[in-house]
Amino acid sequence: MELAKIKSDFVSNVSHELRTPLALISMFAETLEMERVPNEEKKKEYYSIISKEAARLSRIVNKILSFSKIEAGKREYRLSNVNINYLVEEVYKSYQFHLKNSGFQFSFSAGKTVPEIQADAEAISEAVINLIDNAIKYSIDKKDISIATGVEGDSIFIEVKDKGVGISEENQKKIFEKFFRVSDGLVHNTKGTGLGLTLVKHIVDAHKGKIKVKSKLNEGSSFILTFPINNINKGGNKWVKF
Ligand code: ADP
Repeated sequence: MELAKIKSDFVSNVSHELRTPLALISMFAETLEMERVPNEEKKKEYYSIISKEAARLSRIVNKILSFSKIEAGKREYRLSNVNINYLVEEVYKSYQFHLKNSGFQFSFSAGKTVPEIQADAEAISEAVINLIDNAIKYSIDKKDISIATGVEGDSIFIEVKDKGVGISEENQKKIFEKFFRVSDGLVHNTKGTGLGLTLVKHIVDAHKGKIKVKSKLNEGSSFILTFPINNINKGGNKWVKF
């Protein structure tokens, strides 16, 4: 019974997630097609909404594909030497414009002397993107996100911190389970698949890293990913299946 409920919740959550971008894309495409746009500036705005929403759609679909690969045991990680500061800064820059425009305080503090680690750069970016997407989704009143990198002991860390709705202690134990979503309180209208943190955990586990969550209801959350430093590889790229 529980499985049937999880399945039907998932289908309904995903349908909801897909509906909004699809509705926006068709509405703005239709307006453009009918030449009902008053000026060039508006036209540009509509094109940019269409491309942003298309990007959102592909993020959702990629998340589901990524998850199904993991479930089938077919996800592969391509390891190379990665500069974490550079990687996080690239992700940060891709959000900067949009977040500042939507009223967020948004900052990145790069740790000094963060050594390279051996990692799958695309997968680590995916993990950081999932954390930032969540920080955005679950910041309803106070819109303040800060990202930091650094070294702690024999690990490097990446932290994504928000001042959003927070997560109760009880739910903090469950948020990494597949399909799990907090369904009460302030967040019950927020859309999602319940897969984001499952993917983050898988990526971190594959890198022999750890995830720490610090969160308080109504005060905010901080997700800290740590990765061991000592795994640098001098011999070029290598593949691992996980
Ligand atoms: P989704 O966001 O698609 O529901 P996730 O697996 O990414 O799925 O997250 C699981 C649940 O954890 C979310 O539904 C949400 O309730 C909670 N959560 C995740 N990140 C945050 C955050 N930064 N602040 C508050 N709640 C969060």
